[in-house]
Amino acid sequence: MGVSTVTQQQSNHQPSAAVAAFLRRPKQLWIDGTWVDSVSGRAIEVYDPATGRQIDSVQAGVAADVDRAVAAASAAFESAAWRGLRPADREALLWRLSDLVARDADILAELESLDNGKPVGLARMVDVNGAVEYLRYMAGWATKIHGRVIHPSFAGLPGAEITVNAVRDPVGVVGQIVPWNFPLLMAVWKLAPALAAGCTCVLKPAEQTSLTALYLAELVAEAGFPAGVVNVVTGLGHEAGAALVAHPDVAKIAFTGSTEVGKIIGRGCMDTMKRVSLELGGKSPVIVCADADLDKAIPGAAMAIFFNAGQVCTAGSRLYVDAKIYEPFMAGIAAFASGIKVGPGWAPDTQMGPLVSAEQQARVLSYIEIGKAEGGELLVGGEAQGDEGYFVKPTILANVNPAMRVVREEIFGPVVVAQKFATIDEAVKLANTSDYGLGASVWSEGLSTAHRIASRLQAGSVWVNCHNAIDPAVPFGGFKQSGLGREHGEEAINLHTEPKSIWYAV
Ligand code: ADP
Repeated sequence: MGVSTVTQQQSNHQPSAAVAAFLRRPKQLWIDGTWVDSVSGRAIEVYDPATGRQIDSVQAGVAADVDRAVAAASAAFESAAWRGLRPADREALLWRLSDLVARDADILAELESLDNGKPVGLARMVDVNGAVEYLRYMAGWATKIHGRVIHPSFAGLPGAEITVNAVRDPVGVVGQIVPWNFPLLMAVWKLAPALAAGCTCVLKPAEQTSLTALYLAELVAEAGFPAGVVNVVTGLGHEAGAALVAHPDVAKIAFTGSTEVGKIIGRGCMDTMKRVSLELGGKSPVIVCADADLDKAIPGAAMAIFFNAGQVCTAGSRLYVDAKIYEPFMAGIAAFASGIKVGPGWAPDTQMGPLVSAEQQARVLSYIEIGKAEGGELLVGGEAQGDEGYFVKPTILANVNPAMRVVREEIFGPVVVAQKFATIDEAVKLANTSDYGLGASVWSEGLSTAHRIASRLQAGSVWVNCHNAIDPAVPFGGFKQSGLGREHGEEAINLHTEPKSIWYAV
């Protein structure tokens, strides 16, 4: 099929009636349980990444809008309607929300695919199903947050019997700033633990992909959460996002995004000593040992980078292959990459969609040029695909070295850099030579080899014979400049609660 045929189909594709109806509705900000206009009067255009054509616009919320949203969230945090709920009531609300997301799964998946570009099947399976499961997992935590009783040895109150109740209070209003790679799922990763812990929320979606967060706002209301518990303010990072970070009544910021912005946010949070969790960038290594099962390792390493077009913080973007199997491995992964069907998200046979924006496409293509100029050998890809939309072909740059920018810097696209290693020590050293430490994978059929490598890797998640596996029960976050704090599991609840020791002298 020629590129022009694809282009024709892309241009002619019509969304379903439900999605078309949602797109036709004017978008506003969701504050205190109702739709309101931003004081800015400005719009942010929303594009279909498969065509580059505008499909919608959202409002550019600014500091005054954030003030209103934070006021609503603060009032809700203190309200009997929210504070008076039993933990089991919060659990039930989160379950109801998960059921509503499941009910509207087809609409949400189609909307996400249209807004972000990803294949609709992937959106359905990963983003929407992942959101449902995350809400259900975190719902269970609402009833399982408890403290402990301590009998201290304190000698300053002679004659008194002293007991300390060490409890955890909800931290307060949480400002949640999320990126565009998994828009709905990232919103849910932030909202679910906050709500389970009894916090209230102001969510700022990424300006490129705000649609599913706005859809979700109404589901939150339909589920029965009191007004003001969840607010959604669309807007630009340096306006709405920065206003949330600066706001004195926001107790905590939960951020997922680039390391560059994470540092700005982390510094900003210190002005008011906000709690902050940062889930940032990565340059995750994939180590393929000589005893790897190549039938698993070749597709595994390929999907480690090409899943979601490489727009994944844990993408396996640095490939280290034992010299003994380097040639067959590279031939295999190059063939796999060339066979990936790149196309619009709505097409059922699409395996990899476009990048999210023209800006990202230009950035990724420029990195490929930098890599070639630095001496990287282009095995496959290396260019845009088609004459419309933001497509980049799966790309492999081989024979790289640790000094190159394409090896050190996060590209956040379908580009993997590869080099061979001679010994395990060398592989571990290469893998750990990075400012990042988010993910890593080891491919080996030998348990001892795999374990010895895994235990030496500096990464928050290390996968053996798999990559990008993520679960709500398993702590997730980064070493080094990949972040601060851990999401998921009990760690996520701890991030949203403040330890408090209550002393009783009786
Ligand atoms: P990416 O580089 O992947 O686009 P960013 O880190 O730029 O990711 O953006 C992630 C989120 O952070 C988005 O919601 C964006 O609007 C927001 N953001 C960007 N800059 C700032 C900032 N200075 N303060 C607060 N939020 C910001």
